[in-house]
Amino acid sequence: MLYTGKSILDIANAHDFAIPAFNISDWAMFTGIMDICEEKAAPVIIAIHPDEVRHITTDLIPAMHARAHRSSVPVAIHWDHGASFEEAITAIQAGFTSVMIDKSMLPFDENVAITRKVVEAAHAVGVPVEGELGTIGANDSYGESGAAEIVYTDPADAVRFVAETGVDSLAVAIGTSHGLYPADRRPELKLDLLRELKTAVGIPLVLHGGSSNSDEEIGKAVKLGINKINISSDIKVAYHDRMREVLGTDSRLREPNVIQPPSIESLKTVAAQKIELFDAAGKAALY
Ligand SMILES: [Zn+2]
Repeated sequence: MLYTGKSILDIANAHDFAIPAFNISDWAMFTGIMDICEEKAAPVIIAIHPDEVRHITTDLIPAMHARAHRSSVPVAIHWDHGASFEEAITAIQAGFTSVMIDKSMLPFDENVAITRKVVEAAHAVGVPVEGELGTIGANDSYGESGAAEIVYTDPADAVRFVAETGVDSLAVAIGTSHGLYPADRRPELKLDLLRELKTAVGIPLVLHGGSSNSDEEIGKAVKLGINKINISSDIKVAYHDRMREVLGTDSRLREPNVIQPPSIESLKTVAAQKIELFDAAGKAALY
């Protein structure tokens, strides 16, 4: 079934688990993610970043709706890191059932103003909105937003932000960074801050950039109120590492239906680990 971002996340919030938001960039990755989520009976958010939208085009969204409608698990289709009001409207018109507006790099009042404008428009047609407050770090220059320095989300600011914008979920900066960490650095989550933030705002909280955090930390964050975790780098590395291996074996290989399936299997293996870590396996039964 096709769900909105809010209807899928509110149940996760009530039952203390996190829904994986897998970033997909092509149809093979999408069907691989759908298949593993169905095998695991896990609700899923299909996240598509503007760079990925430009690659696959919004023409693919109706086909995703068709797949979601005949799925055995709840599915939401989410516009990841919307950069402007115009992108949010494009997402709504294209059939996304959830949008993110990320103005976290702007001063607080400007972030509030643009986020509230998106919320008013999206809520008018029943589409929920994810906002972001604080600055999630960035380890590399790929796609998503972020800065070298993490600016942690302040709980009092978060209360004001949620009240003034009306967002349905909130991405928070508690010590994660987009992309993959260099081998000599290890991230650490501020779990006490997460506990304070959850107590303060109550709505579903979102974790971006958790690829390099330990499983133990992520598992704790899920139990402290994180209800959506974005997964992009981890599945893409698995997918393309396997593809490099496959292509390296035989220079005559040319058919995608021969080249892609092993890569999809690797992607599914990583996705399955995330589903278990987020305690999302079997949770489709709650919907
Ligand atoms: Zn992100």
